[in-house]
Amino acid sequence: MSIWKHVFDVKSIKKDEKWHKIVIHSLETEIFNTETEMKNLKTELELYNLELKLIINSIWLSKSENRSRNRHASTILAFRIEAEAQRHLKKQLLAARSTYRTVEYRDYRPNDQCQKCQTFEHLQNKCNRLSRCLYCERNHQTWNHKCQLSTCEDKQSCNHTISRCCNCQNAHFANSAMCETYQAAQPISSQKDHLVTKL
Ligand SMILES: [Zn+2]
Ligand SMILES: [Zn+2]
Ligand SMILES: [Zn+2]
Ligand SMILES: [Zn+2]
Repeated sequence: MSIWKHVFDVKSIKKDEKWHKIVIHSLETEIFNTETEMKNLKTELELYNLELKLIINSIWLSKSENRSRNRHASTILAFRIEAEAQRHLKKQLLAARSTYRTVEYRDYRPNDQCQKCQTFEHLQNKCNRLSRCLYCERNHQTWNHKCQLSTCEDKQSCNHTISRCCNCQNAHFANSAMCETYQAAQPISSQKDHLVTKL
């Protein structure tokens, strides 16, 4: 879905500040688009929803070019207090005589691969799994991978490395385009491309 594409464009919320974010999908871009209209959205949300208070205007997930093309877009509501975000999560919010369902905001893409455990849908800063090597699947961090041959000068993967993928146990690196687990994690469109080039 297009919502993942611009996730990393959300710069208006500073990285060093802790925000708790939830997402509203399918907001009509005809009614809400400009900055003034987003102020109106904030006013509407605060007026019609119990105990909802926003410090800042909600932030678009999509770029303005996409919003001018699409009738609907997704927007982020950011809260300073986690309990506040939780209170309005998975709820129907009222604004502009419509109701909008809220969902969790995820700051990763489905095809993000963790550099610590090599699995998908999260990044290493959120990883609570055991380390797996990208090259040989053993329980060490990839940057600690060493050649078994004492005479080998190479620090990382070399010709002596017997590659084994921790996701599918086949003989390739865990980020290989040949890997079925890797392929399955890619967006549908690029999977199609892959199938086309294979035929
Ligand atoms: Zn991980
Ligand atoms: Zn290794
Ligand atoms: Zn070697
Ligand atoms: Zn694999």
